[in-house]
Amino acid sequence: MKIAVLPGDGIGPEIVAQAVKVLDRLKADGLKIEMEYAPIGGAGYEAAGDPLPEATLKLSQEADAVLLGAVGDWKYDTLPRDQRPERGLLRIRKGLNLFANLRPALLYPELASASTLKPEVVSGLDLMIVRELTGDIYFGQPRGISTLENGEREGINTMRYNESEIRRIGRVAFDIAMKRNKKVCSVDKANVLETTELWRQVMIELAKEYPEVELSHMYVDNAAMQLVRAPKQFDVMVTGNIFGDILSDEASMLTGSIGMLPSASLDANNKGMYEPSHGSAPDIAGKDVANPLATILSVAMMFKYTFNDEASFNRIDNAVKKVIAAGYRTADIWTEGTQKTSCSAMGDAVVSAL
Ligand code: NAD
Repeated sequence: MKIAVLPGDGIGPEIVAQAVKVLDRLKADGLKIEMEYAPIGGAGYEAAGDPLPEATLKLSQEADAVLLGAVGDWKYDTLPRDQRPERGLLRIRKGLNLFANLRPALLYPELASASTLKPEVVSGLDLMIVRELTGDIYFGQPRGISTLENGEREGINTMRYNESEIRRIGRVAFDIAMKRNKKVCSVDKANVLETTELWRQVMIELAKEYPEVELSHMYVDNAAMQLVRAPKQFDVMVTGNIFGDILSDEASMLTGSIGMLPSASLDANNKGMYEPSHGSAPDIAGKDVANPLATILSVAMMFKYTFNDEASFNRIDNAVKKVIAAGYRTADIWTEGTQKTSCSAMGDAVVSAL
């Protein structure tokens, strides 16, 4: 298992160091893991004048999986756009053809009070959002701002999906549902948008290949409402790029703790890039207070989705459940009566629980 490790900026190196402790432990227990480090984001700019140095992309392309911390720091905000850290992220996603973004929203019962929603609404939440990442209105042509004959300016973006793009993201969702509770909710706006009318048709066709999976459809406006009304009705939700962008952020807030949420972005062969859902948190960088659990859980996802190693996924997942149940809390999830734990101590606690 060749893993490219890209710590990035801000809290990236601190949280990735904890995830690497977990990988080191699995390695000591016999897994054949190789790790190689490379800079990305601001670190890439500092090392090679480029937020995605060529060597970093090459290493990532040759690896089986990529572990990423986070990129970005306010000090780079004045750089030309193509040299800013965030550009490195977009380029690596494209360079690795990562078209499927998986974002679980999972709430540990002990953390239910961290959510802004009532504990009974979110307690036990376990939802997976599968978002298409390389198509839709974010990439469709034509696009741009032009000036009309009457001198008025007009902005244009184009919502566009072809059948094969819909089918391949649908397949990811159905395959994941087969490993979970076998329910897929496809989110569209088929009553208004032809692109998503096609989306719905293709999902219905695809469902025939997965007779065990129950497919339902929901309009995006209703889905936004249902996510805060009764989020536990969902198992796997699959949707296009723009709807997924919005709904996955909404879903992540159901859990109230951004430091707990992992993510995976996969290509057609299940090669993936794994990273926490949050950013580089420059406000707390270098203080050893960040929550490393989203990054550690991203490593768990790596075993499940890229290495097809359910046992290691469960081992890491159970270790995290154990430390939460034992009352260890980093500052972002700390409540009265629990034990305030530093970033590195949290990593150590997970390794002990392993
Ligand atoms: P952020 O996610 O970095 O931080 C938002 C808030 O959450 C901050 O208060 C931060 O301290 C807190 N936070 C985030 N992760 C945490 C963790 N693991 N433990 C404890 N607290 C945590 O978002 P932002 O402040 O809007 O952006 C900061 C930088 O990150 C910007 O440069 C932005 O472009 C970048 N960014 C990168 C990614 C990425 O690398 N995928 C994603 C989002 C933002």
